[in-house]
Amino acid sequence: ASLFAAVEMAPRDPILGLTESFNADTRSTKVNLGVGVYFDDNGKIPLLAAVKAAEKTRLEAMPPRGYQPIDGLAAYNQIVQKLLFGADSALLEAGQVATIEALGGTGALKVGADYLRRLLPTAKVFISDPSWENHRAIFEYAGFEVDSYPYYDAVSRGVDFAAMKSGLNALPAGSIVVLHACCHNPTGADLSHAQWREVIETIAARGLVAFIDMAYQGFADGIREDAQALQMFAASGLQFLVASSFSKSFSLYGERVGALSVVTASRDETARVLSQIKRVVRANYSNPPTHGGAIVAAVLASAELRQMWKVELAEMRQRILAMRVSLVEKLQGRGVSTDFSFVTRQRGMFSYTGLEVAQVDRMRDEFGIYAVSTGRICLAALNTRNIDYVADAIAAVL
Ligand code: PMP
Repeated sequence: ASLFAAVEMAPRDPILGLTESFNADTRSTKVNLGVGVYFDDNGKIPLLAAVKAAEKTRLEAMPPRGYQPIDGLAAYNQIVQKLLFGADSALLEAGQVATIEALGGTGALKVGADYLRRLLPTAKVFISDPSWENHRAIFEYAGFEVDSYPYYDAVSRGVDFAAMKSGLNALPAGSIVVLHACCHNPTGADLSHAQWREVIETIAARGLVAFIDMAYQGFADGIREDAQALQMFAASGLQFLVASSFSKSFSLYGERVGALSVVTASRDETARVLSQIKRVVRANYSNPPTHGGAIVAAVLASAELRQMWKVELAEMRQRILAMRVSLVEKLQGRGVSTDFSFVTRQRGMFSYTGLEVAQVDRMRDEFGIYAVSTGRICLAALNTRNIDYVADAIAAVL
């Protein structure tokens, strides 16, 4: 028999599988609210002008394509650190942060998970309930047992903070806690600054290890504002990990540009930790690709391109917020009795709408509008031309 004769078909990825069904749908009015990608008002993934300018310069220079260092481009790593922790960060000054260029936020989480598995072989990992569905898979594939802590409150459509805090308080010391820095995926419900302070106190008191996932810096309130939780962790004196990504903020999804940063207690620890993380990278993919990191580094190092990027990022952020406001108004205008005002309080690309599976199915079957079966929709896929149609469909299935 074939070596593979007994191999079972793996289940389709719930979100990428949705895109396959969407692509196969022949209706011209179809809308994909499933995937977490920012589309502009024309329904296109933007190529940012700042990126285009940096790419033009890079192509003209025709750089050779040698291997990168295992940890990636040094200029990129330094500039990422400043974006995360601030240009005047005391942690950076003291050499307490080890950063490597990673293959997107996913790659950063995976390298971090592999490293933590060696550092803390008996620890358990806790993710928010619910969380980005890949969190569980990444940590399980690294060998961890994964469980969840309470997070979302379906009644208030916000965070059940009391439950979250008592959940964290009950975790065994040394547990790894995955936190979303901003724009929580899938719920859009974020913690307030006061709540972050309490979370940090709990993590310190319980001896937990925070792994912060920041995939959407700049999509909630601004580049600096969205790094507030990180700054608070930085000020706490704790050691923690950060997975960050430029997939969304630079609209560079397919280039796989991200970073893993580890905050240590000293410059000496940083050197030792970095040496171990480089071993993980070496044994996985040896070194990261050149293009995406070079582009991001070039944009952020140039005052002019950086300013361009900030403006373009603000446009993306504000367009999503406008779609949030507009969707709520349009639902009200259609006489929908459910109060959807929570959509304007949520942040980032997503909203947990409260739509049930049967309603999501009807939206797909009758209207060709694709949402995740949990009721998660991507607001960044709405535009001035499809929003009325989507509001009609939601009103019809409610
Ligand atoms: N974390 C979260 C919470 C995400 O939503 C995503 C992207 N969907 C990622 C990490 C991974 O991002 P990347 O595409 O950069 O791997």
